[in-house]
Amino acid sequence: MTADNTMVIVGASLAGARAAQTLREQGFAGPVVLIGDEDEIPYERPPLSKDYLMGKHGREKLYAQPRAWYGEHDVDLRLGTIVAAIDPAAHEVSLASGERLGYSRLLLTTGSSPRRLQVPGADLSGVFYLRRVTDSDQIRAAFDGAPRVAVIGAGWIGLETAAAARAADAEVTVLETAELPLLRVLGREVAEVFAKLHADNGVDLRFGVQVAELTGSEGAVSGVRLADGTQVGADVVIVGVGITPNIELAAAAGLTVDNGVVTDARLQTSDPDIFAAGDVANAFHPLYRKHLRVEHWSNARNQPVAAARAMLGEDVSYDRVPYFYTDQYDLGMEYAGYVEPGGYDEVVFRGDVPGREFIAFWLGADGRVLAGMNVNIWDVNEAISALVRAQKPVSKDALTDPSIPLESLA
Ligand SMILES: Cc1cc2nc3c(=O)[nH]c(=O)nc-3n(C[C@H](O)[C@H](O)[C@H](O)COP(=O)(O)OP(=O)(O)OC[C@H]3O[C@@H](n4cnc5c(N)ncnc54)[C@H](O)[C@@H]3O)c2cc1C
Repeated sequence: MTADNTMVIVGASLAGARAAQTLREQGFAGPVVLIGDEDEIPYERPPLSKDYLMGKHGREKLYAQPRAWYGEHDVDLRLGTIVAAIDPAAHEVSLASGERLGYSRLLLTTGSSPRRLQVPGADLSGVFYLRRVTDSDQIRAAFDGAPRVAVIGAGWIGLETAAAARAADAEVTVLETAELPLLRVLGREVAEVFAKLHADNGVDLRFGVQVAELTGSEGAVSGVRLADGTQVGADVVIVGVGITPNIELAAAAGLTVDNGVVTDARLQTSDPDIFAAGDVANAFHPLYRKHLRVEHWSNARNQPVAAARAMLGEDVSYDRVPYFYTDQYDLGMEYAGYVEPGGYDEVVFRGDVPGREFIAFWLGADGRVLAGMNVNIWDVNEAISALVRAQKPVSKDALTDPSIPLESLA
């Protein structure tokens, strides 16, 4: 294959599929090759810990594009294919099969992988990580018969999986080293809302605990031993202790990596013909004037659109306000903004916090809105995002008064 005008995308998940789609929508008529090591066509992961895990819908609803789309748009989708190396000087990628493909521009959307638990017994059967659709299938099957489930890590994946396990009538214990769930991301005020949500739904939450060992018999897990000697019985263990970006290819190719593949606001890496987007990219964010690596769906949806345009030579700058969402039991929420752990002055609320129908605002020392979260209140996220983007002080009285439209405050 000639490299003259070939666009190669490594990582066939949401970000990769969105980039391929954008290339075609922008009128690019040359070859587009989308390479992924999974066997499934590109799909969205959020339902894997929510509706799909609870058996509410099948695989078709997960797909980023219908199966026929790739052929119809002449996208050469190569599934079950590992890219083993990049040769930036030759403008080639090598596949694990030994085949080499030339590119004119390359996009890395290699995403991230679950961090592994490093304790004895972590390789027993019945211990699961959740990243791929096949993981979700296996966990759903393991929930059959209402087993005892221990969830290690009270982050988003851990909590959503705990909620799905409760929906399957499992007895659920959540084990977390911090004092509250999601403490680093949300801070104490809102972390408490999530602790209460799970306690109200019958989850046994254990905070400030260290997992020392997974115990088992005949190769299958039967429990978790904590550092203080406490034994928690479990037939199924779900590990959700964070993710790490898949930077190996980029690092081996000599690209700048630092908590992900480092890019500028155009999503261009330290090699002018290689771009990165999605979970793997640590991109310069013009609004925050620093590099941010965002591990969320909206970023994986929107950032590759900008990256694909940049690959076509457009002058783009990706500066969307970070956004994410979750659904757990009867709580649905959206969050817009960015706050470093402990990097806020105060949280103020509008609405009914005990009733779980409210908006929380994280404020900086100068009264700016750094982030906002709407819980079971809808159609306000754009207004929250505008408040964050405005980067100017807003009166607390106005923020907490539900009679004042948020739109009027930005
Ligand atoms: C269970 C779950 C629930 C989630 N829920 C939410 C949510 O509610 N809200 C939210 O905002 N976000 C959520 N997320 C996060 C969101 O799904 C991710 O941000 C998104 O998947 C990132 O997309 P990506 O395309 O950048 O990377 P990924 O989805 O990680 O895809 C990268 C792909 O590249 C492949 N790959 C890597 N290296 C190679 C190689 N060398 N050769 C070939 N292929 C390679 C990988 O196998 C993978 O298929 C959730 C994630 C998970 C796992």
